[in-house]
Amino acid sequence: MTYDILIIGAGTAGCALAGRLSEAGKHVLLIEAGHDLPPGQEPATVLDRYPTSYGDPRYFWPNLIAEVGATPKTGGAPFARRYEQACIMGGGSSINGMVALRGLPRDYDEWRDLGLNGWGWDDVLPFFRRMEQDLDFDGPLHGRDGPIPIRRCPAETWPPLSRLAAEVFYARGYGFVDDLNGEFQDGMGRVPMSSTRKHRVSSAQAYLGPAARRRSNLRILVDAAVERITWDDARATGAIVRTKTGLETFAAGEVVVSAGSLHSPAVLMRSGVGPAGALRALGVDVVHDHPGVGQNLQNHPAIQIAAHLPRRTAQPVALREWGQNLLRYSTGVEGCVGGDMNLAIVNKSSWHPLGRRVAGIGAYLTKAYSRGDVSLQSADPAVEPMVRFRLLSDERDLKRMVEGLRLCCSLLTEPAIVAARNEVLLPDAALVRRLNRPCLKSWIESLMISTALNAPAPIRRRLLAHVAVDPAALAADDESLEQIVLQRAGPTGHPVGTCRMGPVGTEARCSTSVAACAASPACGWSTARSCRPSSAATPIFRSV
Ligand SMILES: Cc1cc2nc3c(=O)[nH]c(=O)nc-3n(C[C@H](O)[C@H](O)[C@H](O)COP(=O)(O)OP(=O)(O)OC[C@H]3O[C@@H](n4cnc5c(N)ncnc54)[C@H](O)[C@@H]3O)c2cc1C
Repeated sequence: MTYDILIIGAGTAGCALAGRLSEAGKHVLLIEAGHDLPPGQEPATVLDRYPTSYGDPRYFWPNLIAEVGATPKTGGAPFARRYEQACIMGGGSSINGMVALRGLPRDYDEWRDLGLNGWGWDDVLPFFRRMEQDLDFDGPLHGRDGPIPIRRCPAETWPPLSRLAAEVFYARGYGFVDDLNGEFQDGMGRVPMSSTRKHRVSSAQAYLGPAARRRSNLRILVDAAVERITWDDARATGAIVRTKTGLETFAAGEVVVSAGSLHSPAVLMRSGVGPAGALRALGVDVVHDHPGVGQNLQNHPAIQIAAHLPRRTAQPVALREWGQNLLRYSTGVEGCVGGDMNLAIVNKSSWHPLGRRVAGIGAYLTKAYSRGDVSLQSADPAVEPMVRFRLLSDERDLKRMVEGLRLCCSLLTEPAIVAARNEVLLPDAALVRRLNRPCLKSWIESLMISTALNAPAPIRRRLLAHVAVDPAALAADDESLEQIVLQRAGPTGHPVGTCRMGPVGTEARCSTSVAACAASPACGWSTARSCRPSSAATPIFRSV
């Protein structure tokens, strides 16, 4: 049979599309490489309001490697490691941190002003409203009837560190922002989360519940990876899919590629849509020569510093949520827009006993200017694409992350915070990743370490000496701050930008010289590579 629409990837976007399009009567085939999570049978780690699922390798692409480190100033390749992207029904929404923070209106208006009609703030707001059931706010900025609950922890329930950090920032002149999704000034606000008081609500749960799954016009195919799109001349006609029983071809009137920001360009390039020269070199027949596919990769760099907490200030066991409050602030760095960073207080840094006693203070760059790319290493679908984030390659990003780390350090030196914490640490990343894996072994190991750290202060200090730092000394040491950022800042799970939307010709709007462009902070393209006046690199994707 020929489906009306074939959707590649049942992630956050794919589930919503499949749910809405099938509701509208379209014959939809939704194809997901990962396992299904049938309604009512989601594992406890997925349902957990604390994102325990983060560390579970069963929910992620096993062989995806990315260059995650900053480019060393001395030259050479950035540090590469396994990079987590969801491979499971619901995609990222089944495993992510559930932070449901909207972009700022100026982000969407910037897209509109670049030519992406229909994506300005006034255009997207109705869709934000339609998808949410905000349990705290009503009115023109919020929805009450959507499938995704949004709620926040009341300030009275914040753990001690969150409350004290808020007081520090109020004293420094920041106000309280009750509704970070509706009030867009800087300030300390409550983190909106997509969960009920009992469990996570993923896009799969929200849009593909029992009623949706009973629709005869919706077929969901799981454990099935799309190898490539099929074409009739230059028009997509379906996809070739590796299922449990072998290769199958499915036909459709329209093909939607919603395989995430790293796999969507990979599927397109394997299918002949991308930079012609590179594709031909790999033996791929070129269908559409679009050098922009895989380019423009962006992410939110993050840097965290940890603090061991005494039992009295640890997050209460009864408070399961991990996101309580964050500070949205403007760096004021030349060439950067306002509200460009968040400082988040994470009272409980992992699901296990040690995580409950180690808080993380993190600086997150929410408007980064560095750009990376995704390219094919092979035409073989079993070979993952090459992912290069080129984090902090734009000087403005490095500068803001250094200042972000300084701000974290300065918070940790405030007397009220000093009284509420023990040592400040730069933890061993390999240990953190190992313990994050939700299993009995990690729980036992973390309990042992946590118990050892309950020792009297002199012994604890000795045990932590190899990872402890003095935040006051660090805040005053520009060189060390930069070194730490270059070595330890990394990407969050938020890659975007590799399949640009918009009318053909959008990029031609930005044909200023690089020098003129750099001088214009209002320019959204802002990197030399993106600024090339290239009609060949125009976006080809339409918004659905
Ligand atoms: C660890 C982590 C934490 C995060 N925390 C937050 C947060 O707190 N708040 C927030 O807003 N965002 C968060 N994100 C980001 C958010 O989850 C993503 O932005 C979002 O899920 C992207 O949606 P998507 O549909 O584009 O891609 P995804 O949700 O990644 O879905 C893509 C789907 O396509 C499937 N797929 C890929 N290739 C193929 C193929 N060839 N054939 C078939 N299927 C394929 C994948 O298996 C996947 O299920 C986080 C992400 C991660 C990884």
